[in-house]
Amino acid sequence: MAAAAAVHGISTEALLTARRPSLCPVITMPAELTYLGAYPATLQEQVLGLLREDRRALAPLLQRRYPQAHGVRTDKALYHYAQEIKNRHLRNADAVNKVVFDSKIHVVRHALGLHTSISRVQGNRLTAKHEIRVAAMFKQVPDEFLRMIVVHELAHLREKQHNKAFYQLCEHMEPRYHQLELDVRLYLTHVELGGERLWAADSA
Ligand SMILES: [Zn+2]
Repeated sequence: MAAAAAVHGISTEALLTARRPSLCPVITMPAELTYLGAYPATLQEQVLGLLREDRRALAPLLQRRYPQAHGVRTDKALYHYAQEIKNRHLRNADAVNKVVFDSKIHVVRHALGLHTSISRVQGNRLTAKHEIRVAAMFKQVPDEFLRMIVVHELAHLREKQHNKAFYQLCEHMEPRYHQLELDVRLYLTHVELGGERLWAADSA
């Protein structure tokens, strides 16, 4: 039945090739900064400078900016959360059939979110079934971080590539999109360095 399947996720690699400025090949990136590979060298050096002084330097900055965790606890609540954003900004795009938290995608594919579309031939029509998966670690983050991931995956309903039109669509849905993506990546950097989950306590 399935005519074609396309899988798309936010991967570090995709961003590396998409937006990485040209760097001198002699300068290798420290492993802990892999989540920031797409950003200018000056920004990476700034973050590295903070982390060299204190490995936990990013934690208080992020907690001050985002004091509270969101309250989306179940897949059903996540589906409604995504649907609400889609109805407001992408009403005419294809329907999204499923939106779930996934505990495997981050570990296996290094993806934060994943958009899957499966095209099927039904009679003489071609229909697409869309699924969005959000890495389970986003159950315990501020609303802004969850929104950034959901907005990113919803934008893939219209644009498959991470091109200019794609990011314009993300900004249309969430004007702070680029700031939020950077802050999400700073948080991932903090966790990668062995830092604690900053919003886990609020989820009880
Ligand atoms: Zn993407």
